[in-house]
Amino acid sequence: LNYHTARFMISAPTLAHCPADQGREIAFAGRSNAGKSSAINALTQQKALARTSKTPGRTQLINFFSLGEDTSRRLVDLPGYGFAKVPEKIKLEWQRHLAEYLQHRASLQGLVLVMDVRHPLTEFDEMMLGWADEQEMPVHILLTKADKLKPGAARNSLQQVRRRLQEWEDLVSVQLFSALKRQGVDEARARLDGWLSS
Ligand code: GDP
Repeated sequence: LNYHTARFMISAPTLAHCPADQGREIAFAGRSNAGKSSAINALTQQKALARTSKTPGRTQLINFFSLGEDTSRRLVDLPGYGFAKVPEKIKLEWQRHLAEYLQHRASLQGLVLVMDVRHPLTEFDEMMLGWADEQEMPVHILLTKADKLKPGAARNSLQQVRRRLQEWEDLVSVQLFSALKRQGVDEARARLDGWLSS
């Protein structure tokens, strides 16, 4: 699939505003500042498709991108989550929208969970994995900012995460990624291809 043809479709504040639930889509989630926007931009070879933000946690909308003009294959940027300055009430609202989307979106084929390789499996990540497990939704984990660690340390982190998720190995896959160095782009695209092609 041609990920570089991805283009912005629509921003939805709630499930009700999402585009028609047809075709196939893949959602990207991650704790704020984990590197989710940078990962989407690297995968689509675009500088600013998903907005990387200096104030983490500002994007509260579900953003839809179509692959080319055909809107039946989509990438979905879920709201970043967990930035300390956001009031509790808003956090709970995000959580509700995320859960609603993950539980009810029939076209959703898989979830890409973006984690900072230096701080994987946060409370937010565990919550997302729990939801995915409930829905039997496949998950691909990008351990991003891998360039921030020495190769040995990055491999250690990868192994630790794999070991932690061993019991879910049918549904969950993990890889190292760096948007900065464009490391792991082909591996990630291959996984997305599997979900988006029928
Ligand atoms: P988001 O909030 O999850 O969308 O995170 P962003 O993509 O906006 O990235 C948060 C910060 O991490 C920004 O300052 C990015 O430049 C930086 N960043 C993201 N990916 C990488 C990466 O692969 N390597 C390095 N060194 N920095 C990264």
